Amino acid sequence: MDIEHQPLQERIEHFKDVLRRSGLKATHQRLEIFREAGKSEEHPDAEAIFKAVRARIPTISLDTVYRTLWLFVDLGLLSALGPPRQRVRFDANMTPHHHFFCRKCSRMLDFYSTEFDRLIIPMNAKALGKVEAAQVEIRGLCSRCSA
Ligand SMILES: [Zn+2]
Ligand SMILES: [Zn+2]
Repeated sequence: MDIEHQPLQERIEHFKDVLRRSGLKATHQRLEIFREAGKSEEHPDAEAIFKAVRARIPTISLDTVYRTLWLFVDLGLLSALGPPRQRVRFDANMTPHHHFFCRKCSRMLDFYSTEFDRLIIPMNAKALGKVEAAQVEIRGLCSRCSA
């Protein structure tokens, strides 16, 4: 789809690498959770990841999936998108990008923009704390829903 978009196999190699460097094991369970988060362009939430992983690992719990996803966020393997926390979505696309959020079907679509990557952070945002990243979220009706 997008040329900037990193293939799943590359993401998984990177995943194994990061875990190894952090002294963590790339267990089957962790790998399945990451694969589920990483293969989708839909920015799945924990519930959706849980349901998909449970089809292959029936003994897994939602709590484990949550803890594992937050571990991946801490390791810089995923980003967590926006509040509210209970419906937080996870994004395995770590290339700088922006989002189009469809208010009807709740899909969150990635897009790339070098202009938005260079956004100037306003002083009053900087006054609120140390800025680490900035991402643009556009809301509207996706082409599927507006057709
Ligand atoms: Zn839509
Ligand atoms: Zn994204």
